[in-house]
Parts: sequence; C-alpha cells; structure tokens
Amino acid sequence: MGDWLVRVHFPDGRMLYANYLSGSSVVGPEIYADYIPQGQLDENGYYSPGREREKVDPASLLPSRPDLAVSDPDELILVRVAVDHSEWPALFCQRRNQLLGPMHIGMADCIQREFQLIEQNGKRHLVHFAKEQTACGQNDTGEEIPYKYFEWGGFRDPDPLPPLRDLFEEWNGGQICRTCLLNVLLSYDGAGWEDGNTQPIAVPSGRARGSGWAKRFRDRQAGPLGEVLKLLGTLAAIMVLVVISAAFIGYMFPG
Ligand SMILES: [Zn+2]
Repeated sequence: MGDWLVRVHFPDGRMLYANYLSGSSVVGPEIYADYIPQGQLDENGYYSPGREREKVDPASLLPSRPDLAVSDPDELILVRVAVDHSEWPALFCQRRNQLLGPMHIGMADCIQREFQLIEQNGKRHLVHFAKEQTACGQNDTGEEIPYKYFEWGGFRDPDPLPPLRDLFEEWNGGQICRTCLLNVLLSYDGAGWEDGNTQPIAVPSGRARGSGWAKRFRDRQAGPLGEVLKLLGTLAAIMVLVVISAAFIGYMFPG
C-alpha cells in the first residue's frame, strides 16, 4: 500500500513518470520528469521486504492543463504504462500534458464486458449493450464481431468465451474507431458506464480530477455484480442473526 512509481514509455523512447496509488490500483494523471531511485527489484520483479520503493520526484512535476479540451483522437499518443510487473497501453494528451488512461489494468476487460464491437463503414465501433448508438454517435446498423462477454459464477455468454482483447493495443491499427474508444475511456466514471452513457465526463478544473477519480473507483461497486454482492451480504447478515438467536434460545431454555 502506498505510492508506487509508474513508468510511462513513449513511442520515441522518451520516458516520463506517474504515481500509482496501490490502495486503489489507480494511476494518477499527473506526469513527472524524474523519480527517486530507492529499493531495487529482485530477479522475480519484486521489491525485497523492508526496502523503500521507487517514487516519483514531487519536485519534477510537469505543468499540466487539465482544464483544456482533450486533443483530437488522431493527435493523442499511445504510450505504455508500466508498474512493477504489469504493463498496459494508454493514451497521452500532449495539449493537456496528461495521461488520459486507462488508469488501471482492468479497464480493457471492463469495456469488453459492457460493449459490443460492430463493423460499420469500414471501422470497428463500440456500442454499449444498453444503447442503439455507437460511442461516436452513429446509429448501430453494423454487424457484431465476437467480443462482448458475460461471465459470472460458472455462467458464460457466449460459451465458449471470445478471446480477451485490449482494444487500446489496436489504437494504431487503423481499424478501431478512435473516437469510440476515446469517448468510452473519457466517460468511464470509475466503476462503469451508468445507463450506457458514453458522453465524455466534464473535467473539473485544477487537480481535482485525480483524487475524485480514484475516490469514485474506491467507493463504487461495479454495476449489477455490486448489487448481487450487496444482496449476498444482507443474506449473510440475516443468517448470522438467525444462528445467534438460536444459540441464545438454546442457552435460555436448555433441553
Ligand atoms: Zn465509432
């Protein structure tokens, strides 16, 4: 738990740094030019116990403009975010000088669980399962490609499941609709897409976004699964009450 170092690899070989809140497993959007080297990773990629981790150098924070609009999708840079032994593709906005995300490694899977992938007008677009429009605002008239899946408690739809797919890996491939993918990323509220909304969330000015984003991620449980877990929790509480009551009655009226 704590703040860990994130390395942000740019395609031109440049490397910048970000902060990883290990408690919520979320990368902060701020970018730093330097880091403080401390403990070293062992051959298995772990820090030896008791050694301090590498951290961003707070004095090297680069100025950012989170109040500015995000650049056009074609001007964004596909970077690779690396923290410890995890690595995933993410988008960087030069105009804002900010990492846009995904801010955690599970995001590609969140998208695959909620969105259909359709082929339309020579591009592959994303459509939220509760919507009839693509995330870039077209009517969905395309052909669905095996992508979206649901899996819980042994139930699979479809069965067998389609292969796991990180669409950000395909950002530079020319087939994925970048506007769709960017809108899906910018409308993620930390837990999912409420009512299938894929309109980018307005960004509050200043530094509020990083902490707010992480907070929402921590505070909210994911969609229908969260509801099921809440229900199971309530049932477990009732069971405990029944058992305690039975024990109490047995104690008061033995035999
Ligand atoms: Zn699209």
